[in-house]
Amino acid sequence: MPTPTRDYLCGYDCPEGWRAIVEPVLDKLEAMPDVTIAQVKQKFGGLRIYVGLARRDWKSHPAMKLIAEAVELCARTCESCGGAGRSEQTTWGGLRTLCANCHAKLARERA
Ligand SMILES: [Zn+2]
Repeated sequence: MPTPTRDYLCGYDCPEGWRAIVEPVLDKLEAMPDVTIAQVKQKFGGLRIYVGLARRDWKSHPAMKLIAEAVELCARTCESCGGAGRSEQTTWGGLRTLCANCHAKLARERA
């Protein structure tokens, strides 16, 4: 397993294939003074970025738009290789977002 680049988070569990999408978003979130990144992970085949926002109108906060865009992009990106993927049920790891190649490869490895 590669070393997470953001160990300061209590939970940083970003799949390899999504890092190119997620890392720039985290850079931007970190630059926002009223945003605290709490956790990053894959859940039910989708990207989750949990943040703390020091304001009430969080729904209109630019951080939410950034996160929504990343989530949308990851939903179409293989979490293993970064290629074009789609969300699907696997026999070994629940819902995952994968391309056909990675799905077949992981299925073989985990069989
Ligand atoms: Zn793949």
